[in-house]
Formats: sequence, structure tokens, C-alpha cells
Amino acid sequence: KEKSAEEIRVPEGISYEDIGGLKREIQLVREMIELPLRHPELFQKLGIEPPKGVLLHGPPGTGKTLIAKAVASETDANFITISGPEIVSKYYGESEQKLREIFEEAEKEAPSIIFIDEIDSIAPKRGEVTGELERRVVAQLLSLMDGLKSRGEVVVIAATNRPNSIDEALRRGGRFDREIEIGIPDRNGRKQILLIHTRGMPIQDVSLSEIADVTHGFVGADLASLCKEAAMHALRRITPEIDIEEEEIPQEILDKLVVTKDDFKE
Ligand code: ATP
Repeated sequence: KEKSAEEIRVPEGISYEDIGGLKREIQLVREMIELPLRHPELFQKLGIEPPKGVLLHGPPGTGKTLIAKAVASETDANFITISGPEIVSKYYGESEQKLREIFEEAEKEAPSIIFIDEIDSIAPKRGEVTGELERRVVAQLLSLMDGLKSRGEVVVIAATNRPNSIDEALRRGGRFDREIEIGIPDRNGRKQILLIHTRGMPIQDVSLSEIADVTHGFVGADLASLCKEAAMHALRRITPEIDIEEEEIPQEILDKLVVTKDDFKE
């Protein structure tokens, strides 16, 4: 379902299984977004409006983008990303029109999820210094959300690291009136995330529980790069034996390519 506009595409088959920890948060997202996307009739019958906007907040690298992509992918919805800073810088002078186009396209091609990353950058509290352009962009965003007709079939998910710094008008009813905190993972969350990121890796004698024990404060993005670094370390161990120009790596060298406990320590 690739669309012409560069921002519109179905995410790369990310599923809830690719998200470590965050079970309760995923459940909330499914109730708030997936249920109305799949079954708007439930809400029609009840005579209530499903949420139009959900705010995900929490530290960087905790999986906010991942969750948004997973809902889109699991519901077969179009996924449209807007970066807060970019909508102002990249489309300078045409930001409002660009937003209008994105919402129009999202409604036309519903079901759709519009994901606005770093929303705080375009919508800081009024009174705090904001450029005229940011103010207009926020006003446009609010009016587009208020005007959304396809109830439940177009949902706007916004992410921020600083929920208290965004304009209250954005958090009022009918806008981003649902919030989910995406926090730093605990020990068990870290272990789940490590399991996901070592899924396709030839690990040997590695205790993910032990790594989870000693990575207090690591978020998902940190754990993902820890695993990648460990794999690169394992690769570097055998590169002296590799002849880069050789057509095929001999099996006995491939057999030696395993990621060990020590690779994680480096
Ligand atoms: P930012 O605020 O910086 O945009 P974010 O919360 O949106 O951060 P993501 O972009 O979702 O973070 O995460 C970055 C990468 O870190 C993901 O692509 C994934 O590889 C890994 N990651 C983060 N959180 C998790 C998680 N809970 N489970 C598995 N992987 C995760």
C-alpha cells in the first residue's frame, strides 16, 4: 500500500511481539486505537466518539515510535509520520498546507495513523517563546483534529519527552485527550527487550538475565545497540581469518561466528 507522498507508508511489519515489556501500555493502545480502528460500529452504537488523539510520553528510546508503528502494522492502517521539528523547517512556508494535505490523504485512505514525533517542538506552552509559524502550525493541527470526520478511522498519535511543556489546548477533549506513559524498562522489561534483539543472533553461553541485572537505566534503544555492538565484536574476532575477496566464507569460519558472554562485556 505504498503511497505517493513520501510520508505515507505501511510500516515494515512490526508487531507487538517486537516490543519488549510494555504489556500494559500495549493493552491500553489496543483499546484506545486498535479497537475503534477495527470496530467503529461499537462506538457508534454507544453514541460516543473514539479517541482522535493519543499522547505517548516518556524518555527517548523507550519504544514510542515502535508502538505507533506496531498498531498501524497490526491493523493494516496507513502510517504517516510527521516530525515536529521538520514540519516547521523542511516545509518552511508551506507547513500548514502540508499538514492539511496529510490529513486529507489520511482520511481518503483510512484507516490511517498519523504519528507526530517530538510534538513539543511545535507546540510549547503559549507565553513561552514561540515563533509565529509554530503558532500557526499548532492552530492548524488543532483545527484539523477538530474537523476529523472519519471517527475512529483516523487516529493521531503524538510522542513527546516533555509532556508538561506542551500547550494545554492540545490536551483538551477531542484532541490529545488520552495519555500513555512509556517508561524506562525494569529488569524484566530489559530481559524481554534483550530477548527480542538477540532473537536472530547465534548467542552462546550468554545469560540475558545477567545482562538485564547489570543494565539498570538502559532503555530499549540502548539495549538494541548493546546487542548490535556485541555482534560486531564477535565479527571482529574472526575478521583476521577472512579473505574479503573470497567468494564464499568457508563453513568452518562461519561456525566460529558466535556471540559470547565476553562480547557483551566489551
Ligand atoms: P524517541 O523519543 O527518541 O523518538 P522512541 O521512544 O520513539 O524514542 P523508538 O524509536 O521506538 O523510541 O526506539 C528506538 C529503537 O530502540 C527501536 O527501533 C528498537 O530497536 C529499540 N527499542 C526501544 N524500545 C524498545 C522496546 N520496548 N522493545 C524492543 N526494542 C525497543
